[in-house]
Amino acid sequence: MFFCTFAKNLIYTEFIKKSHMQLQVPYIIAGPCSAESFEQVITVAEAVKKAGAQVFRAGLWKPRTSPESFAGVGQKGIEWLLYVQNNVDIPVATEVATAEHTALCIENGIKWLWIGARTTANPFMVQQIADYLGELKDNQKKDIVILIKNPINPDIETWCGAIERILKAGIHNIIAVHRGFSDSITTREQRLSRNDALWSIPLTLHRRMPDIPLICDPSHLTGDNSLVYKASQQALDLGFDGLMIEVHPTPEKALSDAQQQLTPEVFADIITSLRIPKKGASDQGLAALRREIDEIDASLWQLIRERQHVAKEIGKEKHKLGITVYQEQRFSQILAERMQWARENGLPEEAVQRIMDALHEIAINAQL
Ligand code: PEP
Ligand code: MN
Repeated sequence: MFFCTFAKNLIYTEFIKKSHMQLQVPYIIAGPCSAESFEQVITVAEAVKKAGAQVFRAGLWKPRTSPESFAGVGQKGIEWLLYVQNNVDIPVATEVATAEHTALCIENGIKWLWIGARTTANPFMVQQIADYLGELKDNQKKDIVILIKNPINPDIETWCGAIERILKAGIHNIIAVHRGFSDSITTREQRLSRNDALWSIPLTLHRRMPDIPLICDPSHLTGDNSLVYKASQQALDLGFDGLMIEVHPTPEKALSDAQQQLTPEVFADIITSLRIPKKGASDQGLAALRREIDEIDASLWQLIRERQHVAKEIGKEKHKLGITVYQEQRFSQILAERMQWARENGLPEEAVQRIMDALHEIAINAQL
Protein backbone atom coordinates (compact mmCIF):
# COMPACT_ATOMS: atom_id res chain seq x y z
CA MET A 1 0.00 0.00 0.00
CA PHE A 2 2.64 2.51 1.10
CA PHE A 3 4.94 1.29 -1.59
CA CYS A 4 2.33 1.99 -4.30
CA THR A 5 1.85 5.55 -3.11
CA PHE A 6 5.58 6.10 -3.05
CA ALA A 7 6.07 4.66 -6.53
CA LYS A 8 3.28 6.83 -7.87
CA ASN A 9 4.87 9.97 -6.43
CA LEU A 10 8.07 9.13 -8.26
CA ILE A 11 6.22 8.93 -11.57
CA TYR A 12 4.47 12.26 -11.00
CA THR A 13 7.75 13.92 -10.06
CA GLU A 14 9.24 12.84 -13.35
CA PHE A 15 6.54 14.72 -15.32
CA ILE A 16 6.41 17.66 -13.06
CA LYS A 17 10.09 18.46 -13.28
CA LYS A 18 9.17 19.70 -16.74
CA SER A 19 6.55 22.08 -15.36
CA HIS A 20 8.06 25.44 -14.52
CA MET A 21 5.20 27.78 -14.22
CA GLN A 22 6.13 30.47 -11.71
CA LEU A 23 3.25 32.64 -10.58
CA GLN A 24 3.54 35.95 -8.87
CA VAL A 25 1.60 35.36 -5.64
CA PRO A 26 -1.25 36.06 -5.28
CA TYR A 27 -2.01 35.43 -8.93
CA ILE A 28 -5.43 36.84 -9.74
CA ILE A 29 -7.65 35.71 -12.61
CA ALA A 30 -11.00 37.49 -12.79
CA GLY A 31 -13.94 38.13 -15.05
CA PRO A 32 -17.55 37.17 -15.61
CA CYS A 33 -18.85 33.63 -15.39
CA SER A 34 -20.06 33.98 -19.00
CA ALA A 35 -19.18 36.44 -21.74
CA GLU A 36 -22.61 37.99 -22.44
CA SER A 37 -21.90 40.94 -24.73
CA PHE A 38 -18.99 42.90 -26.16
CA GLU A 39 -19.67 45.80 -23.76
CA GLN A 40 -19.88 43.56 -20.70
CA VAL A 41 -16.60 41.86 -21.54
CA ILE A 42 -14.74 45.16 -22.08
CA THR A 43 -16.17 46.81 -18.96
CA VAL A 44 -15.19 43.94 -16.70
CA ALA A 45 -11.78 43.42 -18.31
CA GLU A 46 -10.83 47.07 -17.77
CA ALA A 47 -12.10 47.01 -14.19
CA VAL A 48 -10.38 43.81 -13.13
CA LYS A 49 -7.11 44.83 -14.76
CA LYS A 50 -7.23 48.15 -12.89
CA ALA A 51 -7.88 46.27 -9.63
CA GLY A 52 -4.75 44.15 -10.19
CA ALA A 53 -5.90 41.00 -12.02
CA GLN A 54 -3.21 39.40 -14.19
CA VAL A 55 -5.57 37.40 -16.41
CA PHE A 56 -9.15 38.02 -17.60
CA ARG A 57 -11.62 35.12 -17.62
CA ALA A 58 -14.97 34.69 -19.39
CA GLY A 59 -16.79 31.49 -20.35
CA LEU A 60 -17.98 31.10 -23.95
CA TRP A 61 -19.27 27.53 -23.76
CA LYS A 62 -21.05 26.97 -20.46
CA PRO A 63 -21.57 23.49 -19.06
CA ARG A 64 -24.96 23.87 -17.37
CA THR A 65 -26.80 21.43 -15.20
CA SER A 66 -30.17 22.15 -16.81
CA PRO A 67 -30.72 22.19 -20.60
CA GLU A 68 -32.95 25.24 -20.06
CA SER A 69 -30.07 27.37 -18.75
CA PHE A 70 -27.99 29.85 -20.76
CA ALA A 71 -25.32 27.77 -22.53
CA GLY A 72 -22.96 30.60 -23.46
CA VAL A 73 -22.51 32.73 -26.58
CA GLY A 74 -20.11 30.18 -28.10
CA GLN A 75 -17.70 30.90 -30.92
CA LYS A 76 -18.88 34.45 -31.57
CA GLY A 77 -17.38 35.55 -28.23
CA ILE A 78 -13.87 34.67 -29.40
CA GLU A 79 -13.70 38.03 -31.19
CA TRP A 80 -14.63 39.89 -27.98
CA LEU A 81 -11.93 38.10 -26.02
CA LEU A 82 -9.34 38.87 -28.70
CA TYR A 83 -10.34 42.51 -28.53
CA VAL A 84 -9.69 42.46 -24.77
CA GLN A 85 -6.36 40.70 -25.26
CA ASN A 86 -5.18 43.25 -27.81
CA ASN A 87 -6.73 46.45 -26.51
CA VAL A 88 -7.08 46.07 -22.75
CA ASP A 89 -3.74 44.30 -22.84
CA ILE A 90 -4.43 41.43 -20.48
CA PRO A 91 -4.22 37.69 -21.30
CA VAL A 92 -7.64 36.10 -21.65
CA ALA A 93 -8.81 32.70 -20.47
CA THR A 94 -11.88 30.70 -21.40
CA GLU A 95 -13.27 27.24 -20.71
CA VAL A 96 -12.82 24.39 -23.16
CA ALA A 97 -14.78 21.18 -22.82
CA THR A 98 -13.95 19.51 -26.14
CA ALA A 99 -11.05 19.24 -28.58
CA GLU A 100 -13.12 21.38 -30.97
CA HIS A 101 -13.37 24.27 -28.45
CA THR A 102 -9.65 23.93 -27.82
CA ALA A 103 -8.81 24.10 -31.52
CA LEU A 104 -11.04 27.15 -32.04
CA CYS A 105 -9.28 28.99 -29.21
CA ILE A 106 -5.71 28.02 -30.11
CA GLU A 107 -6.19 28.77 -33.83
CA ASN A 108 -7.51 32.23 -32.92
CA GLY A 109 -4.74 33.04 -30.43
CA ILE A 110 -6.44 32.41 -27.07
CA LYS A 111 -3.76 30.64 -25.07
CA TRP A 112 -5.12 30.44 -21.54
CA LEU A 113 -7.71 27.69 -21.33
CA TRP A 114 -9.39 26.03 -18.41
CA ILE A 115 -10.87 22.58 -18.20
CA GLY A 116 -14.01 22.79 -16.06
CA ALA A 117 -15.06 20.54 -13.20
CA ARG A 118 -17.52 18.54 -15.28
CA THR A 119 -14.95 17.92 -18.01
CA THR A 120 -12.11 16.96 -15.65
CA ALA A 121 -14.45 14.26 -14.34
CA ASN A 122 -14.52 12.71 -17.83
CA PRO A 123 -11.20 11.10 -18.85
CA PHE A 124 -12.36 10.64 -22.48
CA MET A 125 -12.94 14.37 -22.92
CA VAL A 126 -9.67 15.28 -21.22
CA GLN A 127 -7.80 12.78 -23.40
CA GLN A 128 -9.34 14.21 -26.57
CA ILE A 129 -8.19 17.69 -25.53
CA ALA A 130 -4.76 16.28 -24.66
CA ASP A 131 -4.54 14.51 -28.03
CA TYR A 132 -5.28 17.77 -29.86
CA LEU A 133 -2.67 19.67 -27.77
CA GLY A 134 -0.15 16.86 -28.25
CA GLU A 135 -0.21 17.37 -32.03
CA LEU A 136 0.80 21.04 -31.81
CA LYS A 137 4.37 22.17 -32.51
CA ASP A 138 6.66 22.68 -29.53
CA ASN A 139 6.91 26.44 -30.06
CA GLN A 140 3.09 26.66 -29.90
CA LYS A 141 2.87 24.43 -26.84
CA LYS A 142 5.24 26.56 -24.81
CA ASP A 143 2.86 29.57 -24.84
CA ILE A 144 -0.24 27.62 -23.85
CA VAL A 145 -1.45 27.59 -20.25
CA ILE A 146 -3.99 24.98 -19.18
CA LEU A 147 -5.86 25.39 -15.92
CA ILE A 148 -7.37 22.19 -14.63
CA LYS A 149 -10.24 22.45 -12.20
CA ASN A 150 -10.91 19.67 -9.75
CA PRO A 151 -13.61 17.21 -10.83
CA ILE A 152 -17.03 17.91 -9.29
CA ASN A 153 -16.78 14.77 -7.17
CA PRO A 154 -14.10 14.58 -4.47
CA ASP A 155 -11.80 12.25 -6.40
CA ILE A 156 -8.17 13.29 -6.27
CA GLU A 157 -7.07 10.49 -8.61
CA THR A 158 -9.24 11.76 -11.48
CA TRP A 159 -7.86 15.27 -10.91
CA CYS A 160 -4.25 13.98 -10.96
CA GLY A 161 -5.08 11.86 -14.01
CA ALA A 162 -6.33 14.90 -15.94
CA ILE A 163 -3.16 16.85 -15.07
CA GLU A 164 -1.05 13.90 -16.11
CA ARG A 165 -2.83 13.62 -19.48
CA ILE A 166 -2.12 17.29 -20.28
CA LEU A 167 1.50 17.04 -19.08
CA LYS A 168 1.98 13.98 -21.27
CA ALA A 169 0.77 16.02 -24.26
CA GLY A 170 3.83 18.20 -23.75
CA ILE A 171 2.08 21.17 -22.12
CA HIS A 172 4.14 22.31 -19.17
CA ASN A 173 2.28 25.42 -18.09
CA ILE A 174 -0.39 23.89 -15.94
CA ILE A 175 -2.28 25.35 -13.00
CA ALA A 176 -4.57 23.32 -10.75
CA VAL A 177 -7.77 25.11 -9.69
CA HIS A 178 -9.66 24.13 -6.56
CA ARG A 179 -13.38 24.99 -6.90
CA GLY A 180 -14.84 22.71 -4.25
CA PHE A 181 -16.74 19.46 -4.54
CA SER A 182 -20.31 18.28 -4.75
CA ASP A 183 -19.73 15.85 -1.98
CA SER A 184 -21.85 12.82 -1.30
CA ILE A 185 -21.42 12.85 2.48
CA THR A 186 -23.04 16.17 3.29
CA THR A 187 -26.27 17.39 1.74
CA ARG A 188 -26.68 20.87 0.29
CA GLU A 189 -28.66 21.83 3.43
CA GLN A 190 -25.79 20.84 5.71
CA ARG A 191 -23.28 22.95 3.83
CA LEU A 192 -22.72 26.64 4.30
CA SER A 193 -21.99 27.01 0.63
CA ARG A 194 -22.63 25.63 -2.87
CA ASN A 195 -19.74 23.19 -2.68
CA ASP A 196 -17.62 21.56 -0.01
CA ALA A 197 -14.12 22.98 0.36
CA LEU A 198 -12.55 19.67 1.49
CA TRP A 199 -9.24 21.56 1.66
CA SER A 200 -7.29 18.38 2.35
CA ILE A 201 -7.82 17.26 -1.27
CA PRO A 202 -6.11 20.20 -3.03
CA LEU A 203 -3.44 20.25 -0.33
CA THR A 204 -2.74 16.56 -0.95
CA LEU A 205 -2.62 17.25 -4.69
CA HIS A 206 -0.03 19.94 -4.03
CA ARG A 207 2.05 17.59 -1.87
CA ARG A 208 2.05 15.10 -4.73
CA MET A 209 2.69 17.68 -7.45
CA PRO A 210 4.58 20.50 -5.73
CA ASP A 211 5.65 22.18 -8.98
CA ILE A 212 2.09 22.66 -10.25
CA PRO A 213 0.81 26.02 -9.00
CA LEU A 214 -2.46 25.73 -7.11
CA ILE A 215 -5.10 28.44 -7.13
CA CYS A 216 -8.60 28.60 -5.65
CA ASP A 217 -11.87 29.58 -7.29
CA PRO A 218 -13.83 30.93 -4.30
CA SER A 219 -16.78 31.89 -6.55
CA HIS A 220 -17.73 28.33 -7.51
CA LEU A 221 -16.55 27.02 -4.17
CA THR A 222 -19.04 29.13 -2.23
CA GLY A 223 -21.69 29.96 -4.82
CA ASP A 224 -22.38 33.06 -2.75
CA ASN A 225 -20.89 36.53 -3.25
CA SER A 226 -21.01 37.23 0.50
CA LEU A 227 -18.66 34.29 1.16
CA VAL A 228 -16.09 34.97 -1.58
CA TYR A 229 -13.85 37.15 0.59
CA LYS A 230 -13.76 34.62 3.42
CA ALA A 231 -12.96 31.68 1.13
CA SER A 232 -10.29 33.73 -0.69
CA GLN A 233 -8.54 34.57 2.57
CA GLN A 234 -8.76 30.96 3.72
CA ALA A 235 -7.13 29.82 0.47
CA LEU A 236 -4.28 32.32 0.83
CA ASP A 237 -3.83 31.35 4.49
CA LEU A 238 -3.47 27.75 3.30
CA GLY A 239 -0.71 28.77 0.88
CA PHE A 240 -2.64 28.81 -2.41
CA ASP A 241 -0.81 30.70 -5.17
CA GLY A 242 -3.77 32.69 -6.41
CA LEU A 243 -7.49 33.08 -7.01
CA MET A 244 -9.95 32.88 -9.87
CA ILE A 245 -12.89 35.15 -9.09
CA GLU A 246 -16.12 35.88 -10.98
CA VAL A 247 -16.91 39.55 -11.58
CA HIS A 248 -19.94 40.99 -13.38
CA PRO A 249 -21.06 44.63 -13.88
CA THR A 250 -24.58 43.78 -12.61
CA PRO A 251 -24.39 40.38 -10.89
CA GLU A 252 -28.13 40.18 -10.20
CA LYS A 253 -28.78 40.31 -13.97
CA ALA A 254 -26.08 37.77 -14.91
CA LEU A 255 -27.16 34.99 -17.27
CA SER A 256 -25.25 32.40 -15.21
CA ASP A 257 -24.07 32.16 -11.60
CA ALA A 258 -25.82 35.39 -10.58
CA GLN A 259 -25.53 34.77 -6.82
CA GLN A 260 -21.79 34.35 -6.73
CA GLN A 261 -20.48 37.13 -8.96
CA LEU A 262 -19.01 40.30 -7.48
CA THR A 263 -19.39 43.83 -8.75
CA PRO A 264 -16.10 45.33 -9.97
CA GLU A 265 -16.13 47.62 -6.89
CA VAL A 266 -16.47 44.78 -4.39
CA PHE A 267 -13.82 42.82 -6.28
CA ALA A 268 -11.38 45.74 -6.04
CA ASP A 269 -12.09 46.07 -2.30
CA ILE A 270 -11.49 42.39 -1.72
CA ILE A 271 -8.21 42.46 -3.61
CA THR A 272 -6.88 45.31 -1.51
CA SER A 273 -8.13 43.80 1.78
CA LEU A 274 -6.64 40.33 1.39
CA ARG A 275 -3.79 39.47 3.74
CA ILE A 276 -0.90 37.73 1.99
CA PRO A 277 0.85 35.43 4.45
CA LYS A 278 4.49 34.57 3.82
CA LYS A 279 5.13 31.10 2.48
CA GLY A 280 7.74 28.92 4.09
CA ALA A 281 8.25 31.38 6.92
CA SER A 282 10.19 30.27 9.97
CA ASP A 283 8.29 28.03 12.36
CA GLN A 284 10.37 29.01 15.36
CA GLY A 285 8.25 29.44 18.42
CA LEU A 286 5.80 26.75 17.31
CA ALA A 287 7.86 23.75 18.47
CA ALA A 288 6.30 23.42 21.93
CA LEU A 289 2.74 23.73 20.62
CA ARG A 290 3.49 21.25 17.85
CA ARG A 291 4.76 18.76 20.43
CA GLU A 292 1.48 19.19 22.28
CA ILE A 293 -0.46 18.43 19.09
CA ASP A 294 1.69 15.32 18.52
CA GLU A 295 0.90 14.12 22.02
CA ILE A 296 -2.82 14.74 21.62
CA ASP A 297 -2.79 12.81 18.32
CA ALA A 298 -0.97 9.91 19.99
CA SER A 299 -3.72 9.77 22.64
CA LEU A 300 -6.40 9.97 19.96
CA TRP A 301 -4.95 7.01 18.05
CA GLN A 302 -4.76 5.05 21.29
CA LEU A 303 -8.45 5.83 21.98
CA ILE A 304 -9.46 4.85 18.45
CA ARG A 305 -7.67 1.53 18.90
CA GLU A 306 -9.53 0.95 22.16
CA ARG A 307 -12.81 1.88 20.48
CA GLN A 308 -12.12 -0.58 17.70
CA HIS A 309 -11.36 -3.30 20.25
CA VAL A 310 -14.71 -2.72 22.02
CA ALA A 311 -16.49 -2.63 18.64
CA LYS A 312 -15.08 -6.08 17.85
CA GLU A 313 -16.40 -7.43 21.16
CA ILE A 314 -19.82 -5.97 20.35
CA GLY A 315 -19.57 -7.66 16.94
CA LYS A 316 -19.07 -11.06 18.57
CA GLU A 317 -22.14 -10.51 20.75
CA LYS A 318 -24.25 -9.44 17.76
CA HIS A 319 -23.17 -12.60 15.97
CA LYS A 320 -24.24 -14.76 18.96
CA LEU A 321 -27.58 -12.93 19.12
CA GLY A 322 -28.05 -13.35 15.37
CA ILE A 323 -28.64 -9.64 14.79
CA THR A 324 -27.33 -7.41 12.00
CA VAL A 325 -23.98 -5.65 12.35
CA TYR A 326 -25.52 -2.36 11.29
CA GLN A 327 -28.03 -1.08 13.83
CA GLU A 328 -29.56 1.97 12.24
CA GLN A 329 -31.47 3.21 15.26
CA ARG A 330 -28.45 3.02 17.50
CA PHE A 331 -26.26 4.85 14.99
CA SER A 332 -28.86 7.60 14.49
CA GLN A 333 -29.11 7.97 18.25
CA ILE A 334 -25.36 8.23 18.88
CA LEU A 335 -24.97 10.54 15.90
CA ALA A 336 -27.63 12.90 17.28
CA GLU A 337 -26.01 12.83 20.74
CA ARG A 338 -22.49 13.46 19.42
CA MET A 339 -23.73 16.29 17.19
CA GLN A 340 -25.45 17.87 20.17
CA TRP A 341 -22.19 17.54 22.08
CA ALA A 342 -20.34 19.12 19.15
CA ARG A 343 -22.72 22.09 19.17
CA GLU A 344 -22.34 22.55 22.94
CA ASN A 345 -18.57 22.52 22.59
CA GLY A 346 -18.44 24.88 19.63
CA LEU A 347 -17.01 22.26 17.27
CA PRO A 348 -17.80 22.41 13.53
CA GLU A 349 -20.76 20.08 13.00
CA GLU A 350 -19.83 19.15 9.47
CA ALA A 351 -16.38 17.97 10.53
CA VAL A 352 -17.75 16.12 13.55
CA GLN A 353 -20.23 14.34 11.29
CA ARG A 354 -17.34 13.22 9.09
CA ILE A 355 -15.37 12.01 12.11
CA MET A 356 -18.40 10.06 13.37
CA ASP A 357 -18.95 8.55 9.93
CA ALA A 358 -15.30 7.49 9.83
CA LEU A 359 -15.41 6.02 13.35
CA HIS A 360 -18.59 4.16 12.50
CA GLU A 361 -17.01 2.81 9.34
CA ILE A 362 -14.00 1.56 11.32
CA ALA A 363 -16.34 -0.12 13.84
CA ILE A 364 -18.54 -1.69 11.16
CA ASN A 365 -15.52 -3.02 9.25
CA ALA A 366 -14.10 -4.47 12.46
CA GLN A 367 -17.39 -6.33 12.99
CA LEU A 368 -17.85 -7.62 9.45
C1 PEP B 1 -16.82 28.40 -14.57
O1 PEP B 1 -15.65 28.63 -14.25
O2 PEP B 1 -17.60 29.26 -14.97
C2 PEP B 1 -17.33 27.03 -14.38
C3 PEP B 1 -18.35 26.53 -15.07
O3 PEP B 1 -16.71 26.42 -13.41
P1 PEP B 1 -16.75 24.93 -12.79
O4 PEP B 1 -16.24 24.04 -13.87
O5 PEP B 1 -15.81 25.08 -11.65
O6 PEP B 1 -18.17 24.64 -12.36
MN1 MN C 1 -19.53 30.29 -13.24
